[in-house]
Parts: sequence; C-alpha cells; structure tokens
Amino acid sequence: MNAHATTTKEGAAAPFYLPQRDEIEIFEAAARNDLPVLLKGPTGCGKTRFVSHMAARLGRKLYTVACHDDLSASDLIGRYLLKGGETVWVDGPLTRAVREGAICYLDEVVEARKDVTVVLHPLTDDRRILPIDRTGEELEAAPGFMLVASYNPGYQNILKTLKPSTRQRFLAMEFDFPPPEQEKTIVIEESGIDERRAAMLVRLAGKLRALKGQDLEEGVSTRLVVYAATLIAGGMALDRAIAAAMIEPLTDDADIKRGLADLVVAVLG
Ligand code: ADP
Repeated sequence: MNAHATTTKEGAAAPFYLPQRDEIEIFEAAARNDLPVLLKGPTGCGKTRFVSHMAARLGRKLYTVACHDDLSASDLIGRYLLKGGETVWVDGPLTRAVREGAICYLDEVVEARKDVTVVLHPLTDDRRILPIDRTGEELEAAPGFMLVASYNPGYQNILKTLKPSTRQRFLAMEFDFPPPEQEKTIVIEESGIDERRAAMLVRLAGKLRALKGQDLEEGVSTRLVVYAATLIAGGMALDRAIAAAMIEPLTDDADIKRGLADLVVAVLG
C-alpha cells in the first residue's frame, strides 16, 4: 500500500486522490446532509478521480454516466426492452442509484439533452423523488443516494450552460489543475516516474498552460502529464513521450505544434 492510500469502510484501498483544498470535507458534509454537488473545472484535473475516491471512502456504490449530446432522460431512467418475446422494464443508472442509495455521477452534464435537467429537479430538492412516467412509479431516493454532476465552464457556449434554476440546486466546488508541488506528487504516484523528471514534466505543463487562450483552447491536463510520465517510466524517450502525450493531443495546427516543440526544447534545456 502506498503512502497516500486511504482505506474504505470495507477496508479496501480507495483510489488515490490528493486533495487540493477542503473538497473532501465539503463532499462528506454534502453526503451527510443529502445535498447534491456540482464539480466545475477543466477536463483532466481530477474531478472523476475525486468522485470515485469519495464513493469508496463513503462505502457507496458509484454509477458514472458520461453525458453526450444525445443522452436523454430515458437513458438515465430506464426503458422497456424486448427480451425473449416479452417486454420488460430495465432501470437506467440513475434509477438504480436512487433505488440502491448509491452515488450517481453525471460527467459533463451540460452536454446532455434538455429533458435530463427536468428529471434532476425533483431529485435535488428535499422531496428526493424520481418520477418514472413510463411505469407510473414515483421513487423516493433510498438513504445514501447522492447526485453529483460535473461540467467544464471553459467549454461554455450560450446553448450549453446550466440554467440558474438547475445550478442553484447544487453545492458547487471549483477544481483546477493542482499547484506544481501537488501535481508532481500525483504524477509520481500515478506513473512511478522519478522526482526529477516528474518536476520537469510539471514545469513544462505550466508553460503550456500559460498559452491557453493565445495558441491553445485548453491547457494540458494533469491526465496528459500522467500519460507522458507513464510512457517515460516505461522506457520511451523523453521527446517522443512528450510529443505523443503533451503536444499532439493539444492541437492539429502545424505552426502551433512547432512552437510548442520549441518551448519543450527551451524547458528541457
Ligand atoms: P476529470 O474528471 O477532471 O476530467 P480525472 O479525474 O479523470 O479528470 O483525472 C485525470 C487523471 O489525473 C486521473 O486519472 C489521475 O491520474 C490524475 N489526477 C488528477 N488530479 C488528481 C488528484 N488530485 N489526485 C490523484 N490523481 C489525480
């Protein structure tokens, strides 16, 4: 077991998560008080890892749904399916979480179709109910049920944003890329790379993030820094790993790529 391991209620190790601030305490308080939580922040900064860590810590089952623009309320709630000539009702992930008292995590919730937010409203006030129109059921959430959603304010456009009437039903926490010392610890923990090269990758990530808004739409994520470190720890040459994990994913523009490659040379010395 590593130095950062946290033990779950059942004694198993929770996935490694290095807190940035007081997010663990806030999440625990939300869980105790049946309050829904919204996590805001750029992609790859640790939101999903945080939720799986918290679910394990609290000993609750986790249903994660990656939302996309075709995701509808029935994908979450459930539908009638034909099975061996019979029509049977099959619960969706949200319904299962409501019945079982689990955590339901809606990743990138703004991507989902508009009818999804309608379903969330009665679940996020003190009624905590999920009406299932198709079956006529009105489910009361089992103790332990918790709704968690995430979104990336950076991608926001006028069509894809959460309405105040929805967002004001959630406690909200802002996430960002961890400060260098913490990001280094994460990179070492996740990839097994040595401290010197981890520090160098984190320094490079900082420089690349400074280009956000000028040349790049989004800064390099902690996820990509971990990828680069994993490749390097596995024996790949530094420049190849950095190109594959920290440059190519950021842009398709040849000029910008050249500029980033120059930056890499400058940082690596
Ligand atoms: P998001 O959900 O914000 O897009 P993830 O939670 O999937 O991002 O994070 C991407 C990766 O970054 C994780 O798999 C993990 O390796 C690493 N990571 C980022 N932040 C942390 C953290 N605070 N503790 C541990 N790992 C982290």
